[in-house]
Amino acid sequence: MTIRVLPEIVVNRIAAGEVVERPASAVKELVENSIDAGAGRIEVALRDGGRSFISVADDGGGIAGDELALAVRRHATSKLAGDDLGAIATLGFRGEALPSICAISRLDIVSRADGADGAWRIHVEGGRASTSRPAAHAKGTRVEVRDLFFATPARLKFMKTARTELGHAVDAINRLAMVHPEIAFSLSEGTRTVIRLAGQQGELFASRLDRLGAIMGREFADNAIPVEAEREGLRLTGHAGLPTLNQANASAQYLFVNGRPVRDKLLFGAVRGAYRDFLASDRHPMLALFLDVPSAAVDVNVHPAKTEVRFRDAGLVRGLIVGALRHALTGAGHRASTTVADAALGAFRPEDTGVSSAPAYGGGHGRGRVPAGLAERADAFHAPLPGLQAPPSGADADSGGTPDAEDGSCADYPLGLARAQVHGTYVLAQTADGLVIVDQHAAHERLVYERMKRAMEADGVARQGLLIPAVVELEEDACARLGARAGELAELGLVLEPFGPGAVVVREVPALLGETDAASLVRDLADELAEFDEALSLKERLADVCGTMACHGSVRAGRRLNAPEMNALLREMEVTPHSGQCNHGRPTYVELKLADIEKLFGRR
Ligand code: ADP
Ligand code: MG
Repeated sequence: MTIRVLPEIVVNRIAAGEVVERPASAVKELVENSIDAGAGRIEVALRDGGRSFISVADDGGGIAGDELALAVRRHATSKLAGDDLGAIATLGFRGEALPSICAISRLDIVSRADGADGAWRIHVEGGRASTSRPAAHAKGTRVEVRDLFFATPARLKFMKTARTELGHAVDAINRLAMVHPEIAFSLSEGTRTVIRLAGQQGELFASRLDRLGAIMGREFADNAIPVEAEREGLRLTGHAGLPTLNQANASAQYLFVNGRPVRDKLLFGAVRGAYRDFLASDRHPMLALFLDVPSAAVDVNVHPAKTEVRFRDAGLVRGLIVGALRHALTGAGHRASTTVADAALGAFRPEDTGVSSAPAYGGGHGRGRVPAGLAERADAFHAPLPGLQAPPSGADADSGGTPDAEDGSCADYPLGLARAQVHGTYVLAQTADGLVIVDQHAAHERLVYERMKRAMEADGVARQGLLIPAVVELEEDACARLGARAGELAELGLVLEPFGPGAVVVREVPALLGETDAASLVRDLADELAEFDEALSLKERLADVCGTMACHGSVRAGRRLNAPEMNALLREMEVTPHSGQCNHGRPTYVELKLADIEKLFGRR
């Protein structure tokens, strides 16, 4: 065999395999070109999910008639002025998209460059370009792609249904639209309008939130907190959903680097890390985060589709994201998402499908994670809430739960004044304009957990010696696991040591757990350690460890509370960050507005 250089048409078809995976990739490339051209309005039309026809029209700067033929040539670009791949300010830079699409389809471009007398048109079929001719066109550029993949029958076979391809195109456009709220976008499929987004004016955070709301839904806009942080020249902005607004998959996590939609493991991992404290591992937050980094700190030239990036300092990026998200979530205080009330109302009205009645959080409540039987054993022990008078001994703690209405106005407190405890489990409180139902166990568990975390961050968890050290008998490997982690557990306030092969002796416990059942706590922890990744330190699994401890230190469901105790719980929730959800992202309370309740009774 002799070696020969492949003709340009073949080279372009090979490149097309990487650049144009499916119709949506062509849509993405064309829309990116329109954005790079400074468009204020971008209109996309598809037929057959883009399989038979794609049209992208913009009102941007256009292409000069004498450059049309060049635009469809491989490695021809107007976007790299010098030769420096380290200074890329546009979405495109490789000069590969148009020639790749041309090589495998029938393509028409008509364009009128800014300031030009007229428009020009070019037609390319399977990589062979016509000469450009004058045409009629008002402003900007329209690119039409017919019969994508007709020239590559092998790829044609892998095309999915029109519906699936349309879904990918919608996703690609939505992602780009999130970065550019100032640009109007539309997408039609046949005669149907699928996307219609008006251009947003004004301040970036506000206009972006409007755009995000239009794409991710009203609920997101209502329940997202702004994120803004900067570290060593890297800047992170965006909006993050409250933990109680969570989903079964990560599909509503939109991440961008320098205006480029990316799917990056490092970034997804950082998001997971930031929410680890607030969500079960199978639940995922909704968010849109925009990372802007100096071009020297990132390599965007990793893959032809440009959806991957490489950071020079991955640790810095991760730290920035985790820190910024934690800070934002802390700022949300005790807020739980409004979807909680919607879900509750939906449950009251199962026949009503109009309300978003799908719960935004996972299944049953907190106790599931405690091994069977242990929770019951722990029931006897409760840590007192600080600043809370102990119930008079022997007195029935359930004093009817009706605090004197005189001793304060509900309007003074976001979570209201306690009115009653029902089923020994839920606290009912009246607020200025509604009703709050608190799951006392879930709420208290979270409060104890947050106290523990704060203590950890300050000067370590205070310990309390046991008068009589508790000897706990366990399986040998459970003992070994606890022994191996003894140093770390001591930092968390739990001091234990091996006691023969089949037991440990517990000498001290975290003081803020109060009078806890050390034996059942240690057994729970041993079970939990069995599931842990050996490589992770307990601090990295702090949420789980503290969660287990907190569970032992908290008010059990079933325990009666008197009015001052209930109000103390509500007041502490109000001042404790993250108290609106338990460690698994389920709400600790539900708030129903009077207006909602009136709706339930058909009064509105
Ligand atoms: P790249 O975007 O990497 O430069 P493309 O193959 O996507 O490569 O496009 C080649 C060139 O064609 C661009 O550099 C740009 O000058 C021009 N071009 C493509 N689409 C448009 C458009 N919608 N408006 C103006 N110019 C465009
Ligand atoms: Mg391009």
